[in-house]
Amino acid sequence: MAKVLEVNHLSKSFGGVQAVNDVSFHLEKGQLLAMIGPNGAGKSTCFNLINGQLRPDSGTIRILGKDTRGMKPRHVWALGVGRTFQITATFTSMTVLENVQMVFLSTHRRIRNVWHKTADLYRDEAMELLRLVGVESQWNRPCGILAYGDLKRVELAIALANRPKLLLMDEPTAGMGTKERLKLMELTSRIVRDQSIGVLFTEHDMDVVFGHADRIIVLSYGRLIAEGTPEEVRGNKKVKEIYFGTYAVPPCATSGV
Ligand code: ADP
Ligand code: MG
Repeated sequence: MAKVLEVNHLSKSFGGVQAVNDVSFHLEKGQLLAMIGPNGAGKSTCFNLINGQLRPDSGTIRILGKDTRGMKPRHVWALGVGRTFQITATFTSMTVLENVQMVFLSTHRRIRNVWHKTADLYRDEAMELLRLVGVESQWNRPCGILAYGDLKRVELAIALANRPKLLLMDEPTAGMGTKERLKLMELTSRIVRDQSIGVLFTEHDMDVVFGHADRIIVLSYGRLIAEGTPEEVRGNKKVKEIYFGTYAVPPCATSGV
């Protein structure tokens, strides 16, 4: 069976900077893969290569077995790739429900029943997603007035509305408090396992990474320097060197906190 994501010998440079240097990794269905590394390690560049915003200099990217070289972001999205953004990307004047309905509308494009009011289109599907991420009580509020944590949940619902097989999450819990952060990651883990979605995420919070990732890849200066389970990566000498004085690697996983 095709893997959700296969990256082989991927490279990208900007002028003299080798932002991503011969990176290879893969991601299975239902798996959470964390990509970590200090600032400037090449994480965002990797994400942007995968989502089609950047073109690789060399190497291949396969999403569900399909080579995405040369594809535009919207075509990559149409393959079943969802993404959440580091900076919240909802339309602030629209309601929570409308934001999610919009995605269904653009996914299906055709409006089958011209007598249907737009406001009712995909309403049930959108409400179901809001229930899943725990913001159904906020359905009628404009996104602009939501608490930050709720907004992040709406973002997750928006990403899920595309029925993704691959979900790209760039610092999904940035700006959240510790408790909320772990709660959101728990919710995400549950949903992606239930729906067999593969998730690639970057995250600065090492509690989130070591508590929720099935596997971790570590980048430094564009190179993949370590890969493995949280236990394997925690014990890796190179990783300890890189993170020494930058992050404290937690002594044990904190899943379920
Ligand atoms: P990370 O997300 O891990 O912090 P980035 O992928 O943003 O790392 O950056 C990797 C390297 O590539 C850095 O040295 C950064 O300055 C450089 N870089 C990233 N994007 C660009 C760009 N558009 N133009 C020039 N240099 C870039
Ligand atoms: Mg970045």
